[in-house]
Amino acid sequence: MKDRYVVVLSADAMIFEDVETMSQLYALAGVWDRTARVDRVQSIYPTITYPCHTTMMTGVYPGRHGIVQNEQQLMCVRSGPWIHMRDAVKEKTIFDYAKENGLTTAAVFWPVTGKDPNIDYLIDEYWPQNGESSEQCFRDSGSSEEVIEKIAKPNLKMLENRHRQHPWADAFVMQCACDILTEFKPNLLMIHPANIDGYRHQTGLFSPKVTSGLHETNLWLSQLMKAADDAGILDKTDFFLVSDHGQMNIRRCIALNVLLAEKGLIDVDENGNIRDWTAFVRSGGLSALVYLKDPDDKEALEKTRTALEEIKATETAGIGEIFTEKEAREKHHLGGEFSFVIETDGYTTFSNDWVRPLVRPQDNSDYRFGKATHGYLPEKGPQPTLIAWGPHMKTGAVLSKAYLVDEAPTFAKALGIEMPGTDGSALDALFVEE
Ligand SMILES: [Zn+2]
Repeated sequence: MKDRYVVVLSADAMIFEDVETMSQLYALAGVWDRTARVDRVQSIYPTITYPCHTTMMTGVYPGRHGIVQNEQQLMCVRSGPWIHMRDAVKEKTIFDYAKENGLTTAAVFWPVTGKDPNIDYLIDEYWPQNGESSEQCFRDSGSSEEVIEKIAKPNLKMLENRHRQHPWADAFVMQCACDILTEFKPNLLMIHPANIDGYRHQTGLFSPKVTSGLHETNLWLSQLMKAADDAGILDKTDFFLVSDHGQMNIRRCIALNVLLAEKGLIDVDENGNIRDWTAFVRSGGLSALVYLKDPDDKEALEKTRTALEEIKATETAGIGEIFTEKEAREKHHLGGEFSFVIETDGYTTFSNDWVRPLVRPQDNSDYRFGKATHGYLPEKGPQPTLIAWGPHMKTGAVLSKAYLVDEAPTFAKALGIEMPGTDGSALDALFVEE
């Protein structure tokens, strides 16, 4: 096991439809004959980055791991602090199992890994929250002094004043990942650039900008393979190129809390501040979670249910389906403190605003309100894909479908370890017999 290496590159929002282009660019073209693949990997509900990546490292659905949104706060109009720290995850991750088996671990910008004691070389997807320096913010989210000095600091010039901007932030991520490979040779390295996702939000599902994102990913993949070669572990490394969700183009954005306020479920004062509330819609893009102030209040629950059904019937609200928490848990493995889940009609995204206008303009400053986004049921829209190559992968093995919950146990199998009790299973058909 200790002589096995796995590199997982999650190219946020990369889809099966991108594979034709990617496979012709030099990084993948050079290994294409040796790949094992899954055409379409069905994501989880909601198809949102942090819930998805938590599934990709635990092998369980959000109903078990507990990450159901990107953001921490229930009530804010725009994006507040995100869920950065590992202690928010209720289940064991592949990093925990790797450490238990005596392996070394690393992650660069993998979501919800902040302060994870089982990641030896860690740079969390974290950004300055209150004007602190980049160096300090990575220290605050669990990077060791060794990682700060040897990996982060020499590359910070790429990131300074460019946090969350693509491709600068992603170039930083990839250079740090390459440097971790050559400096430390971890058995497991998980990496998460988000340039393709960012371009899809800004310009739509398919565009020249998105294609340029595939070219950037190609360059970074080649750098990663060269780093593994420089480290002397290329022929011992299994690479996985994966992603978390697709996206769908949207036509409009609706502020459902405006309608809840008009039905008396949110009490808004003349300055637009919330005085009191019974129910609140928390947007996840093309779905939303509805929270009650008192989830045990049966009267409030029925009042909210009636209001949501009336709003859905207006059609202009853009609601396709409404699930109770129980229905969402049973049908879609999504559970939590919320009382209802609202699913899009297919082209409407939702915002948290509680003051009119009801229909909101496109807004590229937030992932939920651009030209395309996600959050919808995982069987909808274009699907993520999986491409693997390396000493344990079976040349030419292609599955038409698998599930995001299968990924963590599959990465574990490549490391020679097991993850018992996951919702998914290792994709044995992709591996050579040992
Ligand atoms: Zn994502």
